[in-house]
Amino acid sequence: MLSVHDFLSSFSPAFLAENTVLFEKTLASLTTFHIGGVADAVISPPSVSSLCTLVCAAKAQGIPYRILGAGSNILAPDEGFQGLVFLTKKLNKISINGNYVLAECGLPLNSLILHTMRHGLGGMSSLYGIPASVGGAVYMNAGAHGDEISRHLVKAEVLDAESGVRFYLANDELSFAYRTSVLQSQKNLVLLRAYFCLPSVLCEETRREICEVCRRRRDSQPLEFPSAGSAFRRPEGGVEAWRLIDAAGLRGMRIGGAEISKKHAGFIVNCGGATASDVRALLDICQERVGALFGVRLVREIEFL
Ligand code: FAD
Repeated sequence: MLSVHDFLSSFSPAFLAENTVLFEKTLASLTTFHIGGVADAVISPPSVSSLCTLVCAAKAQGIPYRILGAGSNILAPDEGFQGLVFLTKKLNKISINGNYVLAECGLPLNSLILHTMRHGLGGMSSLYGIPASVGGAVYMNAGAHGDEISRHLVKAEVLDAESGVRFYLANDELSFAYRTSVLQSQKNLVLLRAYFCLPSVLCEETRREICEVCRRRRDSQPLEFPSAGSAFRRPEGGVEAWRLIDAAGLRGMRIGGAEISKKHAGFIVNCGGATASDVRALLDICQERVGALFGVRLVREIEFL
């Protein structure tokens, strides 16, 4: 297998400059948890076609790689990552045609909601405040307050990194369910662009809804600390994970710099200097205690890179 350096040296210096290749970049700076060691190289392609070229080449050469959107659902290992991390943040174009919206995968979900609001489109206010990119939101089928991104998505353009083929998947081909999509089971797929259909709504109405959603988040979530959102998925049976963690007496428990939030027991927060192993230890304790006390298996929502 080629090393990351040898792999990258097969591209022209101009192409590499365009793609902003950073060697030995710390992952802590790329995730909302602010945790994680060094990645061999982090690349920010300026166009969807550059992303496709690089991902397919890495796949063909057997170079390990990961796609990173806003890094808001990721726990990156303390040891770092030996391979390439593709950041989608520069892929943030959006265009609107009537009620149809085309967004590139790196566009922040909040920007999508605000931009469409200014064009008199709405319906997604409940999702405001999820610190996702469009790609990460589709991958996770991100949702809040009874809504999910899948409800608004018409189709997605994806790349199959194995074959190099780009194609469209309609909403019903994306296997959406609670916090999941086909992108989670078919790791070769990269979401490139998403197409949405949004209803026409008065801008003021959407603005009011967004303010209310922000207030609810500020009141209930520990937004003052770095985190990756809810640590666990909602268990089957309906009782939220945070209630079980709380009932197990774990609220406020601390290991190293990581803490089960005092404000919201479903969040693990980085109170300063937390390591990935601190967070993993807390995740394990939650799963063990809740399993032993209530017979409920907590399933992690946060992904390990
Ligand atoms: P990342 O964390 O960057 O990546 C997550 C996964 O998606 C990775 O496997 C990555 O490889 C994959 N991925 C990203 N982009 C692509 C792409 N283009 N193609 C293929 N795969 C891709 N989530 C909710 O659902 N509801 C909430 O209310 C919510 N609140 C949150 C509040 C806070 C304070 C925080 C920190 C997080 C919250 N989250 C919430 C979790 C998180 O924001 C979501 O899971 C979000 O969808 C992750 O998007 P991302 O762009 O950050 O993805």
